[in-house]
Amino acid sequence: MNHYRLRGKTVVSFSGGRTSAYMLFMVLLHNTAEDISKYLLIIFANTGKEHPATLEFVRACADRWAIRIIWLEFRDNDEGFAVVDFETASRQGEPFEALIRKRKYLPNPVTRFCTIDLKIRIIHKYLRSLGLSTEESPVDMMTGIRADEPRRVAKIRTRKSTSESKWASMAMPLADAGVGVQDVTEFWAAQPFDLMLPTINGRTLEGNCDLCFLKGAKQVYSIIASDRTKALWWARMESEVVSGGKFTGDGARFRFDRPSYQQMIDYSDTQFDMFADHDEEIACFCGD
Ligand code: SF4
Repeated sequence: MNHYRLRGKTVVSFSGGRTSAYMLFMVLLHNTAEDISKYLLIIFANTGKEHPATLEFVRACADRWAIRIIWLEFRDNDEGFAVVDFETASRQGEPFEALIRKRKYLPNPVTRFCTIDLKIRIIHKYLRSLGLSTEESPVDMMTGIRADEPRRVAKIRTRKSTSESKWASMAMPLADAGVGVQDVTEFWAAQPFDLMLPTINGRTLEGNCDLCFLKGAKQVYSIIASDRTKALWWARMESEVVSGGKFTGDGARFRFDRPSYQQMIDYSDTQFDMFADHDEEIACFCGD
């Protein structure tokens, strides 16, 4: 069975990671040039907090495979998004910061509005601006979730109906095809180019937003320990977030079950293990 077959207008939501790039390659491999040009849109939603190597990788995939990848970013205006490219893409967290300032609070493990607003919703708005998706004729949205990520798969399959889920029918061809991290690793080992970020057990530690609060605490801390400047933006968001339009000063956190980003910066040159009991990564839509 061809799990990658395009059956109508389809968006490949490309995270800029190895797994979703593998999925994209499989879609290109398993469809005719005619169907690809008729049906396929490939979209990368940039939060502004992606590692520079991720942006390079997205560009390399487009160049090597001779495809168009549409780069979108959140904007706090009527349109709600901007189309950018490798040259003009934000690199200092600007779209993410604009969203936090609009919402006036920080996303957290329970209310992960960043993944919805910075990625899913702007794709929706972009498609609507082109007249491409409606509730009556939803697009297929392919997302790069593997068979060995059962919690992510279950979460998407059991997702309640939302305003976003009405316009897109979620598809997880990798999960359906039984693709695991080993398949993805072997594929990239045989390619002439790769995402230039290290992996541990198939996980790209610095994929997606560099210090995403859903990453395991030790993962976050080890990234800060290797380059504490990466945490400055996160610490600034925690110190500058406003509540109800008023500056709240100290006290806002991306999560309260671990130290603030400023504390992690302060402790980053010690050997102190702050995270002995809190090291689980939480799955989200952003994907690998
Ligand atoms: S990677 Fe993390 S911080 Fe970035 S948008 Fe996704 S959930 Fe939010």
